[in-house]
Amino acid sequence: MNRSHKQTFARPIISVANRFGLINTYSHIISNLKSKVVILVYHRIVAKNDSWSIDTVETSDFEKQMKYIAKTHEILSLEKLVRAIVEKKPLHKRTAVVTFDDGYKDNYTNAFPILKKYNIPATVFLTTGHIGTDNIFWWDKIGYVLYNTKLNMLKLEDFGVISPYSLNNISQSLNSILERFKRVPEDKKDDILAKLVKISDVDIPKNMGRDMILSWEEVKEMNENGINFGAHTVTHPILSKISLKQVKHEIAQSKKDIEKRLSKPVNTFCYPNGQADDFNAEIINLLKESGFICAVTTIPKTVSSKADLFDLGRIPPGWNFDSFKFCISGLYSDLYNRKNWIAESKF
Ligand SMILES: [Zn+2]
Repeated sequence: MNRSHKQTFARPIISVANRFGLINTYSHIISNLKSKVVILVYHRIVAKNDSWSIDTVETSDFEKQMKYIAKTHEILSLEKLVRAIVEKKPLHKRTAVVTFDDGYKDNYTNAFPILKKYNIPATVFLTTGHIGTDNIFWWDKIGYVLYNTKLNMLKLEDFGVISPYSLNNISQSLNSILERFKRVPEDKKDDILAKLVKISDVDIPKNMGRDMILSWEEVKEMNENGINFGAHTVTHPILSKISLKQVKHEIAQSKKDIEKRLSKPVNTFCYPNGQADDFNAEIINLLKESGFICAVTTIPKTVSSKADLFDLGRIPPGWNFDSFKFCISGLYSDLYNRKNWIAESKF
């Protein structure tokens, strides 16, 4: 889970770039100059966006995006991309990798049929402590509870006051509350969450986890049909905020959990939250010792043949088809990494 890559700065740029046909021109020029490898990051693929879920792409939009890259890009599995980089093999000028984080059931119900249709070898990163359980992710718990509470104000010890929000600004309010909640120490999160649920007077349906999160049977079926699985820890803590002993457990156990179910090695990893300060050299060493060959972040960078395999950037799919094309052209990451220039520009 990570929303911080949904940068609002990109919106005016896209509309201007589109108006002048810059996205197509840029991607054409760049693709002829050097290889642009884009690893896309998805979370939920939903029939229709609901009001409290975050990081969702509607199924019809997802199909449009997959159909587009199936035509314009060579699509590799993450593992194949890493092997090509290690073996210094030349990469197709437009290469894409498709990934999903966390392990939502809609990856099976909505995304999987489309991935099969276009023969796309996606990788799904599983938070193994949630697979096949009733336990929904903390950010979904907060979203559901805040959306459904009838109360105007929720006062939480150790966290502060959560103000009510109107339906008009729900996603903005939720994002800022989730960002605040990320800073709660990992060992206090469960406690504060339980208190929040209690005082909100909202019942989280018992079957919600089973409806939202992949089961191991679904994981197995996807695995047998061209989908790869990587580790995304057991409980989704921000790794730089817990002890190295806990880090070791989170990464080794999630790897073991998947390997046991699929009877094959798991060697790709995804950092929870995935921003630059969410991992460090010691964590990377533990990943290498545990047998991982790469790790992906949510830092919006394209991947070059010289990329650090434990700091692989990923690109969000945007919020409509124009922004998707903008993101996958590599223009998004180029501009993101020059955002000071953007901040000074007047669009
Ligand atoms: Zn995640």
